[in-house]
Amino acid sequence: MLVATNHAKRITSGIDDLKIIYSKYLPFKGFRAINLFGVVFARKEHPALSRRIINHELIHTRQMLELMVIGFYVWYVIEWIIKWIIYKNRLEAYRNIGFEREAFDNDSNLDYLKYRKWYGFASYV
Ligand SMILES: [Zn+2]
Repeated sequence: MLVATNHAKRITSGIDDLKIIYSKYLPFKGFRAINLFGVVFARKEHPALSRRIINHELIHTRQMLELMVIGFYVWYVIEWIIKWIIYKNRLEAYRNIGFEREAFDNDSNLDYLKYRKWYGFASYV
């Protein structure tokens, strides 16, 4: 029994460790959560973040660490602008950023980060 409990705790530790701040102002309306340097902001008027969204944000945190954080944001914004020009639609462009495609494709798999390879986003760009 004790072993089972410890095992369960270890599996969920990534999700439980995420720092989440419920805010009135962040992220901008229309978005559910934003990950700023590993801290996630979620809008206060919505219910608490689901495990899937938390996993989504943890995938972004891993991507950030691989690109020394600042590289992630620079790449993110440049790719968003390029895809905005291609798709001529802000939201469609956002959903097709490589980082987002990796996160949306895998966020329902709560074990994804356990076996994800380094720079796993590269095949989604
Ligand atoms: Zn995302």
